[in-house]
Amino acid sequence: MAKEIILISACLLGQNCRYDGKSKPVSEVLKLKEFYDLIPICPEVIGGLKTPRIPAEIQGERVVTKNNKDVTENYHNGAYWASSVCRMKNIKLAVLKEKSPSCGVHMIHDGSFSGKTIPGQGITTKKLLKQGVKVINEEEAIELYQRLKNGETA
Ligand code: SF4
Repeated sequence: MAKEIILISACLLGQNCRYDGKSKPVSEVLKLKEFYDLIPICPEVIGGLKTPRIPAEIQGERVVTKNNKDVTENYHNGAYWASSVCRMKNIKLAVLKEKSPSCGVHMIHDGSFSGKTIPGQGITTKKLLKQGVKVINEEEAIELYQRLKNGETA
């Protein structure tokens, strides 16, 4: 039987697509391929931003870089493509990187570039949730992997 397809933040799978040109690999997230087909996506790159890039944070309705450039459109473009992939592939679950202005699931930076976080979702996460995709962060994905490994259901 074909495995269910899930969407994953590409940086969690080791792709160097973060603003600083690095990745944040999580081995259990990669190991989810034992149970699912993984489709990596970086909404910021697919939305037209380069790597490395100036970091950006959400400020109200806008996404703004540390040097005050409005990149809101790139973030919405990335969310649009992520949402389209989910629709085309009938994806019902996404694992996205916590705290990112695109991918944050429960927390995002507060817009002050001071390292502080606040409850909130990234632009892509919000769009996926709105269309009914379940979105979990890397910590929840580790728990999911351990449950599946123990023979429990997702
Ligand atoms: S946009 Fe998402 S996938 Fe891309 S680097 Fe940031 S957290 Fe990772």
